[in-house]
Amino acid sequence: MPIDATEPYDADNIFAKILRGEIPSSKVYEDEWAYAFEDINPQAEIHTLVIPKGEYVSWDDFSMSASAEEIAGFVRAVGKVARDKGLVEPGYRLLANVGAHGGQEVPHFHVHIFGGQPLGRMIA
Ligand code: 5GP
Repeated sequence: MPIDATEPYDADNIFAKILRGEIPSSKVYEDEWAYAFEDINPQAEIHTLVIPKGEYVSWDDFSMSASAEEIAGFVRAVGKVARDKGLVEPGYRLLANVGAHGGQEVPHFHVHIFGGQPLGRMIA
């Protein structure tokens, strides 16, 4: 069920539980700002999720409320994960679903990294 991107942060959402180590995940990378793990239902050869360690419901929340340091740390982590997976050449796709029309289902901001195959041209 898609979420309302303006809802308050729910500390019991599935990605919060993954961050706390309460449920398992296939960890790819972790630093002070971000945690990356493999999507449980991959939509491409490579489908990795990167989440900030802070409590943000959506991109809207993150872009508005996170500190410049958190934003920079998170963005660098996303880039590093893609680079470490060897995706820069031939390329990859980043996606952040936001709220109901965006099809966001998990209410902890996350960026999808898709790659490992030609993804086609996509504008929506
Ligand atoms: P959204 O639609 O919110 O942008 O994407 C949520 C993503 O989280 C989906 O691609 C879904 O497969 C993934 N996901 C949902 N629950 C879990 C889980 O428990 N573990 C992992 N690794 N991925 C999950």
